[in-house]
Amino acid sequence: MLQPNIPSPTLCDHARAAKDSRFDGLFFTAVRTTGIYCRPACPAPTPKQSKVTYFPTAAAAATAGYRHCLRCRPELALGWVRDAANSVAGDKARGEKNVVR
Ligand SMILES: [Zn+2]
Repeated sequence: MLQPNIPSPTLCDHARAAKDSRFDGLFFTAVRTTGIYCRPACPAPTPKQSKVTYFPTAAAAATAGYRHCLRCRPELALGWVRDAANSVAGDKARGEKNVVR
């Protein structure tokens, strides 16, 4: 079975500690002590590194027995797709073409 790649654990740790929303959808953080998984930018207190496991998809975390977080709703995470679509729609609405971001 093909597994999507996730960033390195070190990068995941940094993204999670910084609550960096650019990593939304690239990996999911599951906390072994609570049984809950989150988005990287979840507003909940950051769990200790020793207590987390990273998953490439929300489905993988759910399959492993974790429940979705009620604050960041990781099961709905396709933020980067949504943002990209909104960006393209916004560019078209403004009549902009070939915008480099
Ligand atoms: Zn969360």
